Amino acid sequence: MRIGRANGRLVIIDGDGVVDAAAVSGGEFSADPDRVFAVWDRFAEWAGGYAGPGTHTGPLVPEELGAPVLAPPQVFGIGLNYREHAAESGVDAPDVPPVFTKFRSCLTGPYAAVELPSDRVDWEVELVAVIGRPAERVPEEKAWSYVAGVMVGQDLSERTVQLAGPVPQFSLGKSFPGFGPTGPWLVTPDELPDRDDLPLRCSVDGRVLQDGRTRDMIFSVPELVARISAVCPMLPGDLIFTGTPSGVGMGRKPPEFLRPGTTLVTTIEDLGELRNALVAGPGFPQPRR
Ligand code: ZN
Repeated sequence: MRIGRANGRLVIIDGDGVVDAAAVSGGEFSADPDRVFAVWDRFAEWAGGYAGPGTHTGPLVPEELGAPVLAPPQVFGIGLNYREHAAESGVDAPDVPPVFTKFRSCLTGPYAAVELPSDRVDWEVELVAVIGRPAERVPEEKAWSYVAGVMVGQDLSERTVQLAGPVPQFSLGKSFPGFGPTGPWLVTPDELPDRDDLPLRCSVDGRVLQDGRTRDMIFSVPELVARISAVCPMLPGDLIFTGTPSGVGMGRKPPEFLRPGTTLVTTIEDLGELRNALVAGPGFPQPRR
C-alpha cells in the first residue's frame, strides 16, 4: 500500500488515482496524514481493502503531493551508516550508530523548491523509515513490524554550520528550512521485493552523484529501531533518516556543493523520486562583478 498527502489530505495512492481516506471512511480516519500513525494497524487493515479504479476519488496529481509526514513527534538521523561514506568522511566505520535529529521544521515535500542558505550545502540521499507503533526496547528481529512504511529522503546539510564550534553541530546544520525533502509517498514494507536491499541514488541535472544500495548499511533498519528504542521510546509517526552512501560533495576533491538554478533528483527504486529545484536564499553569496 502507498499513502500520501495530496492537497494536505491523507490519500491512498493507487496507480494513477487517489482515494481520500477521510471521505471514503465516512470520517473514521482523519484527513490529516500526521494523525494516521496513532491508529496505524487499524488503518492499514481498512485501507488494504481500498484498491482498484472504481474506488478512486480523484487523479494522482504530482504537484498536489506534500511530505507524507510533516509533524513527526521525533526525527532521528543516523550518521556514517555506510562504510564508503565513513571512509570519504575520513573516519573509521562506527561500532555504534551516531544519532542526531533533524528539527521537524526542515521537512518539505517531494517537489518543493529549496533555498540554499550558503554555497556549502551538500546532498545526502537516504531511506527514511516511519514508525507505526509505540516502540520501546524492541528486539531487532521484531523491529520491521514497528515500521509503518518507508520513503525517499534527502538529508540536506549545510557544512559550515555543521562543522562550526568545538564539536560538530549535526542537528543544526541539517535543519535549515527545506532541508528535509521526503516522499513522494509512504510505501508499506510488504510491497517491496526486498525491504533490506533498495537501490538509492541522487543526481543533479542528470549527473549521478550517489549510487548505492541499502543492503550496505552498517546498521540495518531493524537494528536502528532496536538500538534507538533501547534508549528513546519511539512514537507513531517518528522518522528515521537512515544515513547516506558515499558520493557526498564534502568528500570530493575538491569539495563540491549544490548550486542555485539546478535540480536535485533523489531516487529509491520501488519507492519513487524527489525533484527539488534549488534556488539562492538571501544568504547565498552574490557572484563577483
Ligand atoms: Zn545524513
